[in-house]
Amino acid sequence: MMANNEADLIVFHRNLRIQDNEALSYGSIRQNYKCIYVFDEAYWSGNGKSLRQLYFLKDCLRELDNSLKKINSKLEIFIGNYIEFHKSLLNNKFTLHFNYSTDIEYYKSQFTQFLKLAKHQYEIKVYNDFGVQRENFDRDQWSRFWENQMNKPLCPEPKINKASHDRSYLSTHTVEEFINKYIDIQKPDFIEIQPGGSSKAEHLLETFFNERCNGYRTKMSNPFDAKDSCSRLSPHFSFGTISIRSVYQKLKKEYFKSNFKSDLYSFKKRLHWHCHFIQKFEAEPDIEYNSMHSMCDNLRPSEDQELIEKWIKGETGYPFLDACIHHLRRYGWINFRMRAMIMSFASYNLWQPWQKTSPLLAELFVDYEPGIHISQVQMQSGVTGINLPRIYSVLKQSRDQDPEASFIRKELPELSDESNENIHNATMDVDYPNKIVDLRSSSANARDKIWGIRKSDQFKQIAKEVYIKHGSRMKQRRR
Ligand SMILES: Cc1cc2nc3c(=O)[nH]c(=O)nc-3n(C[C@H](O)[C@H](O)[C@H](O)COP(=O)(O)OP(=O)(O)OC[C@H]3O[C@@H](n4cnc5c(N)ncnc54)[C@H](O)[C@@H]3O)c2cc1C
Repeated sequence: MMANNEADLIVFHRNLRIQDNEALSYGSIRQNYKCIYVFDEAYWSGNGKSLRQLYFLKDCLRELDNSLKKINSKLEIFIGNYIEFHKSLLNNKFTLHFNYSTDIEYYKSQFTQFLKLAKHQYEIKVYNDFGVQRENFDRDQWSRFWENQMNKPLCPEPKINKASHDRSYLSTHTVEEFINKYIDIQKPDFIEIQPGGSSKAEHLLETFFNERCNGYRTKMSNPFDAKDSCSRLSPHFSFGTISIRSVYQKLKKEYFKSNFKSDLYSFKKRLHWHCHFIQKFEAEPDIEYNSMHSMCDNLRPSEDQELIEKWIKGETGYPFLDACIHHLRRYGWINFRMRAMIMSFASYNLWQPWQKTSPLLAELFVDYEPGIHISQVQMQSGVTGINLPRIYSVLKQSRDQDPEASFIRKELPELSDESNENIHNATMDVDYPNKIVDLRSSSANARDKIWGIRKSDQFKQIAKEVYIKHGSRMKQRRR
């Protein structure tokens, strides 16, 4: 039993790494510690969560467990929610260490309840995980805070555990028991997703800096090239198998000797965006369900389930859009521009409420990161009030991003004999789903509605308030 307060319990959530992990680093100092991952089935069936993300998690837990074993520790899996976890601690005396995580409402409320229940019994330490301000949030100073956070020295390596492995005080599973019982019994709904784990993240970073980033700035726009030319670090950031700070510091070193400076500069900006978007969600968790601009929630009052289903299955009658969705369903990733186009189609052309479509799209992403996803979904639906609405034309994107229709034919082999022209015009000779909406009239309708609401003084006043809370100050400072 852990019977004295010299022992530490390190609780992992979305920080599944050894390097630059504050909770692990500081929790291991006394060399008498246990490492726990809390697996809560309700969290995993929550808003936007899915099996493909669980499959990625499985690789991360395995690698973390193996790495911990090298320092005489291991990862134990507690099955249950945070309230049950609190009960199972049974007043043993130890210090608990967590890395803070900005996450969906369910997690936030569980974690808050846990802290309330546990704070009088245990010493609890909660560390910042990356560039998000938890307290004293100040948008004007945010970029400075971010730079400071990114430039801090990495945490010391965790120390070797000297305590014996003892499972009797807390009922846990080994990683393998957990995987067999909770993940492997479920049949995957994808073809191939990226593998998880810190070694994979390090490898991606190295190959990106050495060669893959060549042309990143332009290649990121089309789904074919982007697959190899983007860093592909997003699921690793979401599961915390690599720290943003370590990536940022390596990038700074790499930048000076690299032949691809403009590409790496674009990459650097995106590391900043990562935290900038998550900060919005941290500062205003209600945006999980409400539009940033309160007047925009009345725009799309009802949903059409049949339309939504055809959209998310890639049966819209527009081949490029369908191909992108099929690709996403198969591999769990697609580039930024295509994500934006998919969302724009649902919100503008189909005029569906983003609250209904957002979780369905999130479930398809292995890299689902609520803070980025929700902010981006709202931007691409024209409901933030502070970003100019942009309606993507799926036909224009088809010609621009896949002129030879090779990506489309790969994803939709039934169109292999169809001409490029027919494919780009969405007027196929072969049997293909009918178009679920007319592009021109639905875009015009959406433009009228979205610009109509933006004209009023009341809209502008609320938009100002949104800007003060969430708007980037980067442009202002440059001026
Ligand atoms: C509707 C929609 C939903 C999205 N949902 C998610 C999501 O759930 N999880 C997620 O990580 N990204 C999301 N994005 C942002 C972006 O598409 C992905 O971050 C990117 O495609 C991931 O691939 P990468 O790691 O190779 O990116 P890279 O281009 O190599 O960029 C490096 C990192 O920068 C960050 N980044 C890149 N673009 C953005 C952006 N526009 N906003 C914020 N951060 C960015 C990511 O952390 C990314 O891993 C979404 C975009 C849209 C339009």
